[in-house]
Amino acid sequence: MPEVLLAERSGTGGVSELDVAAAHRRLEVVRDELDRTVAVLNGAHQRHPLVADYPQDPADAGTNLAESDRAEAILAAAKARRVLVLDALVRLENGSYGVCVDCGKPVPEGRLEVKPEAARCLTCQAKRDRQRR
Ligand SMILES: [Zn+2]
Repeated sequence: MPEVLLAERSGTGGVSELDVAAAHRRLEVVRDELDRTVAVLNGAHQRHPLVADYPQDPADAGTNLAESDRAEAILAAAKARRVLVLDALVRLENGSYGVCVDCGKPVPEGRLEVKPEAARCLTCQAKRDRQRR
């Protein structure tokens, strides 16, 4: 029995099967994308001095407001996801990446490919989503 355990533990545990370099690349791609999104939306959000000089058509004002609301929602989502991606990069460095933070089981590789910042397996994420609502 101990021999079996040792054989299974060759390597550094759950992370050994994970391609750390690939995960790192995926996370960096997502982070850069989010950085761009945040930068663009931050820029778009601040009223451009030239545009501000134009007389405002009251009919346009409503549209602009709705659009800035939407930009703000996208910006908030991008910032929130960026935090998760940075968290995942930290977990990657300390070796806990790819392991569900709730149940400690490995997060399926397929899930990490789609959502590299995922901190939980699908079961725990579903549980958490249900609790939040
Ligand atoms: Zn889990």
